Amino acid sequence: MSKAKLEYDSLPYPTVVVVGGGFAGLEIIQGLNGKPYKVLLLDKQNHHCFQPLLYQVATASLSADSIAHPFRRTIAPMANVAFRMCTVQRVDPPAKLIHTDRGDVPYDILIIATGSTTNFFGNHRMEQEAMQLKSISQALDIRSDFLQDFEAALYAQDEAGQRRCLNFIIVGAGPTGVEMAGALAEIRRTVLKREYRELDSDRMQIWLVDSNERVLKSFSEKSSAHALGYLESMGVNVKLGARVASYDGEVVNFQDGSTMEANTLLWAAGVKGVLIPGLEAGEVPKANRYGVDRFNQINGLPDVYALGDVALMSEGQWERGHPQVAPAAIQQAQLLVKNVIRKSKGEAMTPFTYTDKGSMATIGRYKAVVDAGNLHFGGLIAWLGWMFVHLMALVGYRNRLQVLMGWAWKYMSWKNTIRLIIRPYVRRTVQQAVEVPESA
Ligand SMILES: Cc1cc2nc3c(=O)[nH]c(=O)nc-3n(C[C@H](O)[C@H](O)[C@H](O)COP(=O)(O)OP(=O)(O)OC[C@H]3O[C@@H](n4cnc5c(N)ncnc54)[C@H](O)[C@@H]3O)c2cc1C
Repeated sequence: MSKAKLEYDSLPYPTVVVVGGGFAGLEIIQGLNGKPYKVLLLDKQNHHCFQPLLYQVATASLSADSIAHPFRRTIAPMANVAFRMCTVQRVDPPAKLIHTDRGDVPYDILIIATGSTTNFFGNHRMEQEAMQLKSISQALDIRSDFLQDFEAALYAQDEAGQRRCLNFIIVGAGPTGVEMAGALAEIRRTVLKREYRELDSDRMQIWLVDSNERVLKSFSEKSSAHALGYLESMGVNVKLGARVASYDGEVVNFQDGSTMEANTLLWAAGVKGVLIPGLEAGEVPKANRYGVDRFNQINGLPDVYALGDVALMSEGQWERGHPQVAPAAIQQAQLLVKNVIRKSKGEAMTPFTYTDKGSMATIGRYKAVVDAGNLHFGGLIAWLGWMFVHLMALVGYRNRLQVLMGWAWKYMSWKNTIRLIIRPYVRRTVQQAVEVPESA
């Protein structure tokens, strides 16, 4: 047994278990590093994923490993922190026990930072047929899918078939939808036009659909209008005030009775917190998040905290909870670390107040929008600002360098270069159809 393991096991400290190594969880373990706690990070993945750049992996601008960072590399120098890869299945608060797919784990303090997942609002067929963008494997699915569609279009028998292959529908005009639509529009203008010469690139249509009346609803009206102008100038069809009712993998039905044929629909129209059985006492069902007090403790569950996307804290202007974004997760984690230490010393804890530093989204080359306080601007400065902020927020110097190089290459060559179908995407319904039934 290694010296490091012996040292960790014999630490005479209370055990803090952190479930989820996203923005919130990672900040917690960094804050508790070197403090008198035995910290155990549990995550179903072996890496942290920088979700804000997932769309660039999905659209072949960045490689997957440039936006992911292995937990073991992060915790290697942290003597009081350990990591176990597992899926947490249930928590038993009275017994202070966590049940995972790899066994049980006891805790003194439990911190839930499980983030959020795509919300299909109970539409199971949509969940089966639509693509989503919350993880690296889903980003790689999207990358394979659009490249496979380009190749398939060359075999289509007629124009209608070709158009179906090249019709991309994105539901949800929030930052993810807007960024994906812009990136696909750039691919049409560069890659499709230059490298798929037998195809008429105008047959590729990108639709950005939202039931709201404007794109980027959470941004200022000025930035929304700015973003809409960018999208339209890039040839994206923006369909606002339109609600998607169903999708069967080939045809999208809208609530107003209209239809559209498309092989690909990306659902980016909502998220819901990843809740863990056993903690129902703290759930706010309508919000799909855990109700927490100003110290991030889950309502009614002592020594159990939740933070980040999965937590719903009512505070100041944020009556219905903070936005589900990285800064909220990070700020909550930074204060929670201090409060856990204060509480153990018998000192008073400090209530959380969110500092909103603004929002930014990028639509394409030189096209981005920034809301910062009363400042709302777009264009080159906003685009450079967006790149700088995202570069600095990445975990690890290697990832920063890799992303910087990736962007430099892309913007100099005008190409999305990582266009490899390494793991072909097979639709879930097709996968299920070819699965051999157990009885066979
Ligand atoms: C495509 C996309 C683009 C985004 N762009 C931006 C942006 O530009 N700016 C911004 O501020 N925010 C952005 N966000 C939102 C931001 O990424 C989230 O707000 C942030 O990741 C929340 O952090 P978190 O720590 O709460 O959860 P996450 O970062 O989601 O981490 C949750 C972790 O919990 C683990 N986990 C979940 N369930 C279990 C379980 N049962 N057992 C074990 N482990 C589990 C997961 O594997 C994951 O590692 C974006 C999100 C997406 C999806």
